[in-house]
Amino acid sequence: MPGVGAAPPSVALPGVAPPGVAPSDDAPHVVVIGGGVCGLYAARVVAGAGLSVTVLERDDVVGGLAAGRRIEGNWIDLGTHHLHAFDEGIFDDVRAIMGTRLRPIEKRALVRYGRGFRRYPLAFGDLLRGIPPWTLARALAGLVGQQLVNRVRPREAADAEQALIALYGRPLYRFFFRDFTARYWGMSPRALSATFVRRKMPRLSAIDIVKRALAPLGFRDARGAAVDSALAEETLWYGVRGSGEMPQALAEHVVACGGRIVTSAPVTAVETVAGRVVAVRYRPAGAGTDDAGDVRLLCDAVINTAPINHIVPRFDPPPPPAVTAAAAALRHRPMVAYAFLIRRPRVLDALYVYYRDRRFHRLAEPKNSGLAIDPPDHTLLLAELMCAPDDGLWRGDPDAVAEVVRDLEAEGVCRADEIVRLHIVHAPEAYPVFDLGFEPHLAALQDFVARWPNAWSVGRQGGFGYPNMHAAMREGASAAENAVASVQAACAAGPQDEASPADPVRISA
Ligand SMILES: Cc1cc2nc3c(=O)[nH]c(=O)nc-3n(C[C@H](O)[C@H](O)[C@H](O)COP(=O)(O)OP(=O)(O)OC[C@H]3O[C@@H](n4cnc5c(N)ncnc54)[C@H](O)[C@@H]3O)c2cc1C
Repeated sequence: MPGVGAAPPSVALPGVAPPGVAPSDDAPHVVVIGGGVCGLYAARVVAGAGLSVTVLERDDVVGGLAAGRRIEGNWIDLGTHHLHAFDEGIFDDVRAIMGTRLRPIEKRALVRYGRGFRRYPLAFGDLLRGIPPWTLARALAGLVGQQLVNRVRPREAADAEQALIALYGRPLYRFFFRDFTARYWGMSPRALSATFVRRKMPRLSAIDIVKRALAPLGFRDARGAAVDSALAEETLWYGVRGSGEMPQALAEHVVACGGRIVTSAPVTAVETVAGRVVAVRYRPAGAGTDDAGDVRLLCDAVINTAPINHIVPRFDPPPPPAVTAAAAALRHRPMVAYAFLIRRPRVLDALYVYYRDRRFHRLAEPKNSGLAIDPPDHTLLLAELMCAPDDGLWRGDPDAVAEVVRDLEAEGVCRADEIVRLHIVHAPEAYPVFDLGFEPHLAALQDFVARWPNAWSVGRQGGFGYPNMHAAMREGASAAENAVASVQAACAAGPQDEASPADPVRISA
């Protein structure tokens, strides 16, 4: 297998002529930090309202977690990334912007479970079918028993383990959730907050689960409330050049509306004066390591979608030490996607497949979602791997790669000698970690941002949560609507007596 490749430089943003809706030179200016789908959609709303907007993106491409990179003739996503149509307003708008660049695809997602594959999300009946009979009897007894305990002695779960046990009972927790959660997060569920179960795990009432399991025997839920899984059958949406097509199209739309997108522009400071954010500084590519080369943008409002724990300490003047300490207490779990080019037309019988006890937790084959692969008789396989900062998987050490390939062979996905090439895509901030006790730290950061009437922090990183793309875009839209309303109200109130600390510059990208 020829060497492990790094991503090549920038995928250029095609210049699109402004269609005559560009904001006037003196239009209020909103800076958006982060060019993932949340930030780009926020910019789309701000630009749509006729305000001036600049998106500052740290990486050399837009899209954040949903970015696509063209590497040696193929578009490579960070694992599987399909758009859901759950939020009609967002979906209709994105579809109008993208036209034929967005294509429907019937969901076929599987879980490797027991001796075979089951539909994802795993129906409770399927979950039970993979459990040996004696374990199954204990699991059901544990589930029902736990419901009685919850009723007689309700208590707040102190950690994710207690929350999972309260939902599913101890035997099912031990059989299904404990080891998987530990492998996925690299830590025991006891070290994770109960909030993790509420916000990240699919939440099923255990009573509903039992009712659903008993439904085939003639027991019916009078309220019909035991149905949760519209997700099992769903039309998903995918770009003609992979997941990165959507952020790319959004970015082009923002530019077409007169907005600016600056890539390779990590934000270094958010300046505040007299109770308001007045400017944002970023370090352009090649500007060195000190702040002498930073570019300063005057702004009337800022929407942050980059990690809140990275941006809050960059407020200038700095936040109180307690807030800085809160930022230092939050962390992310990185992940890498290993993109294998394989000398075989097809390797999976699904868009993506989950695995519980392999090095990878999910494999995706974008060709099955309609992505053209070069050469056409090959396929691309994306293996999603949770990792620790700078560990062997992150670096692509030969041992780590060999372990992943061994698991692919053990699953019968492909043989090592069919792998033509491997590229690794890195995501340092893939998953906010809900460590035990993280809530007050996050609240301290959110309270700090809320002090500034013209600053918002939203999205997966800005809100430190797990929204999907449509939900992140909805958060971006809401923040943008608030920013537009606040800026327009400030304009209507007339000029404020606000000192600006130095000569601000407006840039054009
Ligand atoms: C493996 C995986 C698969 C997923 N699959 C799906 C799926 O199929 N469907 C779905 O709907 N969702 C999926 N998601 C979730 C989806 O990726 C996110 O909801 C969405 O991309 C979040 O967008 P965002 O803009 O909020 O955050 P991000 O995409 O993380 O964007 C934040 C941006 O901020 C930038 N940034 C960071 N620091 C700075 C700085 N100092 N200055 C400037 N910019 C900065 C980052 O580079 C990044 O571009 C998946 C997530 C993962 C990890």
